Amino acid sequence: MPSVYNWQLGRDMSFPYGNAPGGLQFAFVFNINRCIGCQTCTMACRSTWTFGRGQEHMWWNNVETKPFGGYPRFWDAKLLTMLEEANPGKQVWGKGGGGTDAPYGTFNGMTIFEAAEGYAGPAGPRRALGYIPTADEWAAPNIFEDHGRTLADALPSDARLPEHKVWFFYLARLCNHCTYPACLASCPRNAIYKRPEDGVVLIDQSRCNGYQKCVEACPYKKAIFRSTTGTSEKCVGCYPRLEGRDPLISPNGEPAETRCMTSCVGKIRLQGLVQVDDRGNWKPDATNPLYYLVRERQVALPLYPQFGTEPNGFYIPPRWVPRPYLEQMFGPGVQRSLEQYACPDRELLACLQLFRAAQQIIFRYEVIKGPKVAEVPVTMPDSSTKIQEIYNDTVIGYNKLDKECVRVTIKEPTFERDRMKHANSI
Ligand code: SF4
Ligand code: SF4
Repeated sequence: MPSVYNWQLGRDMSFPYGNAPGGLQFAFVFNINRCIGCQTCTMACRSTWTFGRGQEHMWWNNVETKPFGGYPRFWDAKLLTMLEEANPGKQVWGKGGGGTDAPYGTFNGMTIFEAAEGYAGPAGPRRALGYIPTADEWAAPNIFEDHGRTLADALPSDARLPEHKVWFFYLARLCNHCTYPACLASCPRNAIYKRPEDGVVLIDQSRCNGYQKCVEACPYKKAIFRSTTGTSEKCVGCYPRLEGRDPLISPNGEPAETRCMTSCVGKIRLQGLVQVDDRGNWKPDATNPLYYLVRERQVALPLYPQFGTEPNGFYIPPRWVPRPYLEQMFGPGVQRSLEQYACPDRELLACLQLFRAAQQIIFRYEVIKGPKVAEVPVTMPDSSTKIQEIYNDTVIGYNKLDKECVRVTIKEPTFERDRMKHANSI
């Protein structure tokens, strides 16, 4: 099998095809600490793309309550178990990390592609380790919603928010438009392709024969079979919006964020396009807010990077959850991420204001410095207290045409209505 470089694993890995061509890549950052589990994102996607017959079980965007929830049920626990069985005791990360090419160190275990090599199941050889979920597993999209786990029976923890006797968190998920998509790699019809202009992964419905190899191979279970058409479908990245074809949001053809992103009530989401080179590595550009959060500060981490698809969805982990649970989910960068997020410095705090501030995609941002407005004590992950200095800086985002599309301040302005004019209003 050809070899490609996976920066999230810090090493080369085998993949049935070569590197994707460089260019723009769809990516997003979700701040789990802010998600309220309202499912507005889920319904925004549903009402746009999956309201038809045969799509009843298709939730291209879903929000599940971890640790017990999942859609389809047990999707991650099942695949982690399969990988452990394929490579017992060796699914581990090496020490080190922090460099540009290997920010989390090196993953020494097997990816889903490597674990599938030499393996022949009942249906013959396969390109990626995986399974097809049962009808029961697709039946309950929000099972275990708001169910927590008590700390008493939890994994050993150094989480430092003891007032929470029970923990859970909301994990919002959609297709990661992976750099090395397992769905694409496994399709015997070559029906799945990755668009060079934005890295969005699409299924050509005219080529798909419904073999469900993509359903089996996608580790995130985001390719889904539709019985009424006999084909598989998946998130399309709201590509008409990415192409700037919504005249209300993009009068001059500016790329806009997807429906699930722009509808987010909790302001947990920031989506964009980053530049990648022909090795799949991100080109340095600290003025792009996604590059800044993911590569420069490493405060947002990939979901199950050890699967090996190089997902382009990144998460700021929740502060109150036992570290071993977070590390198996987001890799070794968890502690570094939490230390920064607990007490963000001036520049990080400014960048975090861009979440859900604009509908158009922000390609570049800049910060205008303002006066100091507060000093706030914060509890750090090691239980120590730190004083956070807050400045009323102004953050400006620019769209693809390099025109200003958003301007926000750290201190949210308040407005008082004229009581004489609006006597009956509250
Ligand atoms: S998340 Fe799954 S469906 Fe989406 S690109 Fe990756 S492998 Fe394919
Ligand atoms: S809309 Fe935002 S806050 Fe609500 S569930 Fe979705 S991601 Fe979470």
